[in-house]
Amino acid sequence: MDESTQTEAAEGTPTGYGYCSWHKRFADDVRLIDVIEQGSGSGGTHYACSPCREAYGLVPFADR
Ligand SMILES: [Zn+2]
Repeated sequence: MDESTQTEAAEGTPTGYGYCSWHKRFADDVRLIDVIEQGSGSGGTHYACSPCREAYGLVPFADR
């Protein structure tokens, strides 16, 4: 069964290679960040790499 693997992946493990919305390049170890943009009316979901998460104080969605 693969269900246990999916549970672990959803629990804060790196999502892997993806596009970082903060430095606008692809990077390893990006994490899903939920962004609530005040005034725009609709929040969004973006991915941030580890350096950008530290630089901008971003909290991964899975850690909320
Ligand atoms: Zn980045």
